[in-house]
Amino acid sequence: TVPVYDDGDADASHIEDKTVAILGYGSQGHAQAQNLADSGVDVVVGLREGSSSRDEAEADGLRVAVPDDAVAEADITVMLVPDTVQPAVFEAVKDGLEEGDTLQFAHGFNVHYGQIEPPEGVDVTMVAPKSPGHLVRRTYKRGEGTPGLIAIEQDATGAAKEQSLAYAQAIGCARAGVIETSFKEEVETDLFGEQAVLCGGVTEMVKAGFETLVDAGYAPEMAYFECLNELKLIVDLMYEGGHMGMWNSVSDTAEYGGLTRGEEIIDRDGFDEILEGVQNGEFAREWINENQAHRPAYKQYRDAEQNHQIEEVGGRLRELFAWADEE
Ligand code: NDP
Ligand code: MG
Ligand code: MG
Repeated sequence: TVPVYDDGDADASHIEDKTVAILGYGSQGHAQAQNLADSGVDVVVGLREGSSSRDEAEADGLRVAVPDDAVAEADITVMLVPDTVQPAVFEAVKDGLEEGDTLQFAHGFNVHYGQIEPPEGVDVTMVAPKSPGHLVRRTYKRGEGTPGLIAIEQDATGAAKEQSLAYAQAIGCARAGVIETSFKEEVETDLFGEQAVLCGGVTEMVKAGFETLVDAGYAPEMAYFECLNELKLIVDLMYEGGHMGMWNSVSDTAEYGGLTRGEEIIDRDGFDEILEGVQNGEFAREWINENQAHRPAYKQYRDAEQNHQIEEVGGRLRELFAWADEE
């Protein structure tokens, strides 16, 4: 088991006299910047000229500068613009990184796959809340926090870990618990999880189930309820009580049928192939090229998904359930 750090392991003196440049004021940027400021840390938000986020950051009481000025001033620069634009933003600001400064990330993709090559003499770290930004902010305001990860890619000062823990404390993550990982592990597990299980795996499983029932002549509405709508109930049970919590809550028939039949739909070789493509960089290369080509394949995949029958059926049925959102 890996150690879980909390507030007691963090020493605020590693961050309290520092200036932090938050590049980007989106999901993570707005949350981390405001939490830091509320924790008494000096924050400057780095936004490009004409940025649509500028008014919001200023309305939240934060100082705003253009990215290269913010980085030149800061001791710690945090890359919180979208991953696909980080390499260009890094090129524009890198001259402002001085020896002893920190370049920090919330996701390791660009460093791990060589799209950003930080200078020597700079600490390269990750502090990654395991949660969307609005929860990072909302829980902090309640005196709580969301769990987070830290990782050290380059420790030029010898204090990268202490500073990362202090940062995690200042944004509230240490109130919940902080785990140390590496850039490699964070990136590879993240990409594998979203491709094989969370996003890719689940949607393919739902579509395959839906299509099997519809092709066999069952009503699409019934197929939608069984294969998509009820998934939420099952996932909620798993989230609360693990697999046993779920099995204990469904009928014995569902439990026996699931335990004996579920494995038939899983192709373990497919999981290995996805992991291999993540580890050998094939997926990363493909996605980087796709972005450079302005995303032709991405648009096609999205169109196909949009035009799938389950979207039309689901759109209709979800309207009937609009009341459920109000509870
Ligand atoms: P967002 O997409 O929310 O970032 C939007 C911000 O980036 C806006 O302020 C936008 O300003 C700015 N921006 C967009 N394009 C550019 C550009 N070309 N040049 C300069 N600024 C630009 O990012 P996230 O918060 O989702 O992600 C930030 C990092 O955090 C990523 O590394 C991500 O992987 C990681 N992460 C995200 C999580 C999440 O919950 N979303 C969870 C954990 C990690 P403008 O108005 O100028 O466009
Ligand atoms: Mg991800
Ligand atoms: Mg993830």
